[in-house]
Amino acid sequence: MRAHNFSAGPAVLPLSVIEQLQSALPEFRNTQLGLMEMSHRSGDFQSIHDSAKDKLRSLLQIPEDYQVLFLQGGASLQFYMVPLNLLEASDSAAYINTGTWSTKAVKEAKRCSQSFDCWAPIDGIFNTIPTEQVDVKDAKYLHYTSNNTIYGTQFHHIPKQDGIPLVVDMSSDICSRPIDVSKYDVIYAGAQKNLGPSGVTAVILSPWAVEQSRKNQRDGGLPSMLNYGLMVDKDSMFNTPNTFGIFALDTMLSWLQDIGGVEAIAIQNEQKAQKIYDEIDNSPLWKPHAESHCRSWMNITWRANDESLEQIFIREADKEGLKGLKGHRSVGGIRASIYNACPVESVDALLNFMKDFSQKHG
Ligand code: PMP
Repeated sequence: MRAHNFSAGPAVLPLSVIEQLQSALPEFRNTQLGLMEMSHRSGDFQSIHDSAKDKLRSLLQIPEDYQVLFLQGGASLQFYMVPLNLLEASDSAAYINTGTWSTKAVKEAKRCSQSFDCWAPIDGIFNTIPTEQVDVKDAKYLHYTSNNTIYGTQFHHIPKQDGIPLVVDMSSDICSRPIDVSKYDVIYAGAQKNLGPSGVTAVILSPWAVEQSRKNQRDGGLPSMLNYGLMVDKDSMFNTPNTFGIFALDTMLSWLQDIGGVEAIAIQNEQKAQKIYDEIDNSPLWKPHAESHCRSWMNITWRANDESLEQIFIREADKEGLKGLKGHRSVGGIRASIYNACPVESVDALLNFMKDFSQKHG
């Protein structure tokens, strides 16, 4: 029996998706070849790849002149690839620092540019995001993390700034709600939260971003595997892509289309999150980590007023089949990750457990 899985990523996938992946392994659609054993240059794989791209384009309404890439190396490689392609060594980009992943992103950018933090919380506690205009100085782009997986904060608005290109790490909230892609120049996201298994990174590039890469003057040129322009020319297949991961992505996107796309899932996501926040707010045991204006719909983080209860909660929940609720070590406490594929039944099971727990320990 499958547990209720609240893991932050890799995270729960719909059972119907897993069953389709399973059945494609021995033989994929009457090809007499297993999915993982087919050439990435074959027509059959090309059609899977095209289908995944088309579905992502249609779900997010990606403008026609934007490029969609499926790369490897995770979002962590994009931390370096973005500045390497978009900036010259003497250029800078402004980074909004809302937590661990933004900190890592700016660290990589500093290796190859003059990039800087344009915002960080005054007290160093990552429980909020900027609501005021950020000062981007003469930066070439502004980078932010739309959902902070570890801290459970999320931007519900596009950061206010002076109209320079926007780059966003959407690893933990891509396809969880509608977005206006035309407002961004680069969107990147590791797949292992909302899009399937780990090992595939979706990268969406505006014409400006591709042009920046093509005209980059760095000494010796950009390394092939880190070159957006080349990846666009080769349709993400300069080398062997993660064929299984791309099929899994295509299958996940079909599932999302079937349940009504990003508009429908956004309503569900907000409702799922709200139920848990209501329970946290209404119980004397708990205190939420994130400020209320930027509470994440994807990762709900909270602490117990009496910290000794946290371990008991996590242990007892685990015994009841509610898995993956331990908060990240940098925040502590409890974290429930409830991405697109986390069913309402799992959220309800968690709520029932929380209510019983409050009665027992309140
Ligand atoms: N950005 C965010 C917001 C993340 O949540 C994560 C992973 N949890 C990463 C970046 C790093 O992703 P990857 O492991 O795919 O490199």
